[in-house]
Amino acid sequence: MPINKHSLPVLIVGQGLAGTILAHTLDQANMAFNMVDAPKTYFTSSYAAGGIFNPVTGRKLEKSWLVDELFSYLFPFYRTLEKALDISFFHPMPLFRPFANEEMKGWLLDRKEAIHNEYLRWEEEGVWIENAGWLDVECLLKCSKQYFQSKNLIKEIAINPSIDLTISVDEVHFQGQAYACVVFCEGFHAQKHNPFFGHLNFLPAKGELMKIKSVEPSQEYILNKNGFLLPLGNDGFKVGATYRWDDFSNQPSLSATLDLRNKLTSLGVNSYEEVEMSTGVRPATQDRRPLVGFHPQLPLAIFNGFGSKGVSLSPYFAQQWLAEWKGEGQINSEASIRRFYHLFST
Ligand SMILES: Cc1cc2nc3c(=O)[nH]c(=O)nc-3n(C[C@H](O)[C@H](O)[C@H](O)COP(=O)(O)OP(=O)(O)OC[C@H]3O[C@@H](n4cnc5c(N)ncnc54)[C@H](O)[C@@H]3O)c2cc1C
Repeated sequence: MPINKHSLPVLIVGQGLAGTILAHTLDQANMAFNMVDAPKTYFTSSYAAGGIFNPVTGRKLEKSWLVDELFSYLFPFYRTLEKALDISFFHPMPLFRPFANEEMKGWLLDRKEAIHNEYLRWEEEGVWIENAGWLDVECLLKCSKQYFQSKNLIKEIAINPSIDLTISVDEVHFQGQAYACVVFCEGFHAQKHNPFFGHLNFLPAKGELMKIKSVEPSQEYILNKNGFLLPLGNDGFKVGATYRWDDFSNQPSLSATLDLRNKLTSLGVNSYEEVEMSTGVRPATQDRRPLVGFHPQLPLAIFNGFGSKGVSLSPYFAQQWLAEWKGEGQINSEASIRRFYHLFST
């Protein structure tokens, strides 16, 4: 570990959701940092995200990984951030999962006692999930950018780590400034363009969603049945999302449009106006766990791999990243890149 690590700032590469959450975490802890973010032409995941947080996933209504720790942290985290930035972007909202069909209903009801957890409320037609909701990711990112700009902390640059960074054992130089550590939050771009962490187990997944206007569905809750319907207010909804592992272009595809129209039909929405498509690539991993931690030899770090759950995972793991950086704790072993230290040459 670098000896001077707390006297120099940290450089954060990427102001998607991950970089933004990490930056706010450092800011709240009064740790010095700077950020760089590539121009808008760079393709992100965050600007396409539905922003949903949901403690129960899968057909069997299981609690998602680490849910109790994540969810007790994310509510106060986002509420505190709303106050600090003086804007509303965190929208807790119930989520309704209708039973897929009579067979599934019977299967779930037969096992209700075993399946039940504190996030579920059972009804004749389906199950309500409490403590769900959505984060307006675009709003958070835009007002965070203004906040970082007002403090002169962010520059618009696409870094080429091999050329732009001068790395020694205990510090990194970038544009004449010494940094204690560079933490890469580049989303799926890391796999192709990061010479230090690109060999980790990324499995990017392209996703598309559609914004629609409709007066048919309820604005009061998120509907989730083989896809989601997320109310935005003023008859606006997001419907999503698709998954693809063979195309990483930033163009909306006809196959995704058709898939989303089918989802709308199965969600019971027949009359709607299509407003726009959003396209992004999720920084997912083969073992579905984040990539958080420190390079074993160099003053470099990573905060990435949040897949389709950046909203619920990133606040908790930003705090864990910081604790390990300060020598006050260790990142959860399933998320820490220590699990890949054997892949780094010595
Ligand atoms: C269709 C879709 C729906 C989704 N729905 C949800 C959802 O409902 N709930 C949820 O929790 N998650 C959802 N996600 C996933 C969510 O978007 C991600 O988990 C999260 O946004 C990842 O953020 P990130 O910052 O790691 O990556 P990104 O958003 O991709 O950000 C990476 C940033 O790094 C910058 N960058 C890259 N390389 C460089 C460089 N060399 N120099 C400088 N900057 C660089 C990029 O410009 C970008 O700003 C969805 C994703 C998609 C595509």
